[in-house]
Amino acid sequence: MSAINQSGWRPSAPAKGNDAPPTFTGNKALMLEEALIFEIGDTSTTGVEVAAPVGTTSKLGSLARTAPIGLPGLSEPETVRHYTRLSRQNYAIDLGLFPLGSCTMKHNPRLNEKMARLPGFADVHPLQPVDTVQGALGVINELAVWLIELTGMHGVAMSPKAGAHGELCGILCIKAALEKRGEGHRKVVLVPESAHGTNPATAAFAGFTVEDIPANADGRIDTEALKARLGPDVAAVMITNPNTCGLFERDLKTISDAVHAAGGYVYCDGANFNAIVGRVRPGDLGVDAMHINLHKTFSTPHGGGGPGSGPVVLSEALSPFGPLPFTERYGDGHITLVEEETVEERHPDSFGRMTAFHGQMGMFTRALTYILSHGADGLRQVAEDAVLNANYVLRSLSDVLDAPFAASGPCMHEAIFSDAGFAEGYSTIDVAKALIDEGFHPMTMYFPLVVHGAMLIEPTETESKAALDQFIGALRSVAERARAGDPSLRTAPHFAPRSRLDETLAARKPKLVWQEPVATAEAAE
Ligand SMILES: *Cc1c(COP(=O)(O)O)cnc(C)c1O
Repeated sequence: MSAINQSGWRPSAPAKGNDAPPTFTGNKALMLEEALIFEIGDTSTTGVEVAAPVGTTSKLGSLARTAPIGLPGLSEPETVRHYTRLSRQNYAIDLGLFPLGSCTMKHNPRLNEKMARLPGFADVHPLQPVDTVQGALGVINELAVWLIELTGMHGVAMSPKAGAHGELCGILCIKAALEKRGEGHRKVVLVPESAHGTNPATAAFAGFTVEDIPANADGRIDTEALKARLGPDVAAVMITNPNTCGLFERDLKTISDAVHAAGGYVYCDGANFNAIVGRVRPGDLGVDAMHINLHKTFSTPHGGGGPGSGPVVLSEALSPFGPLPFTERYGDGHITLVEEETVEERHPDSFGRMTAFHGQMGMFTRALTYILSHGADGLRQVAEDAVLNANYVLRSLSDVLDAPFAASGPCMHEAIFSDAGFAEGYSTIDVAKALIDEGFHPMTMYFPLVVHGAMLIEPTETESKAALDQFIGALRSVAERARAGDPSLRTAPHFAPRSRLDETLAARKPKLVWQEPVATAEAAE
């Protein structure tokens, strides 16, 4: 690959392959091999030795242990090293670009963490007297005000704990509204093919029947097919916008009008709100309910790094049914938090509670910090830069990778490619595995299903041009190898501690219990 000018990033000398002699330890310089803790530990050692208490009798009775506990014992430094070595085998957003599409892995500003750790937020207890947590409640309410303003909606349920949980909240609001209208017989939820997989799962979980609506050739909803299916049995449509092909559903307002005219509600999956925040208000497009993934649009760590949070904004029609705690705009324009059932007269039709308490306080604090530190103009720029970065990836690679929707206009926050053009027998997995050798986490693969061998890439707004150029260079070189049929691609990764694992077997038949190897067990007897 040629050196990239302008960007600041320069390719270094190509890494040498596997021609080096094996090491005694199995370690490859700083890439350390690590066995299971059961294989390195020994049941006879322990990190801490506490003397048996004198003069006490066990109260465990028949529950008292009769055989050794069988846990591997390690000293404290051995334990620390085991977990530290394992942690170094992870890829992380703090190590490099994380191209996963649909996941929005963006940098989490350290200021968020500083704020979330302030004792007044970090140490509050949900059962504390309300008088003593006015500041924390104020943060929840201020975040709610921002979410309502940014989406142009009427109210927001703050407690749902992730995107999918938010979907359930929105669908339960729709169910409650239909029942109140005496139209509980509406049992069908229409879900376009371009929707995220959680959408049909949510509708089915809430007791609805899911019907697919096809996508058209440009990757968007077939609006005519959707309109034709509307009728007295349809409760709602669930539309992901921007959709999982990375495209904006331009017909959403037309669709909402038709759905409302037919007596249904419009659920919008807003997990991709980061592509349109500050540019489009879903309330203006006729949306009735939409979850916002705070852990995507408004940073905050996720994916093993932290919990999610999925507040649901609701239209005026659905707001009365939202779960407590609930934040709503009142007649004088004032927005306030209704937090207890005792305020029945203010929220009598609420379908109930989704969680015991207010939701994820740490995520609220991080999201509000992100919002306040960006300001309204900064948030708009988040969307613009996220879209610009995705289009830069899309256009920079479309000569080596097939971009099935390139003719549908610019993409939104994510770029999608297919495996068309690879040599016979080569597939997306080969490209993904080779990216590991290049030091990147692979992109989202084989999703969405509407694209053959899909590669879905979401760079987010937090990547610099230099970082994008390095990633594009790596993916270009791998894609060229897939087109040329380079056999070494079929066995990549070559530099990772393990190469190709049987991932299907691991998922279907996971080995969750360690069995002592037979030879050792016999020797011990
Ligand atoms: C991430 C995502 C979800 C699910 O959100 P979780 O917080 O993981 O439950 C739903 N829809 C879309 C489009 C998403 O990207």
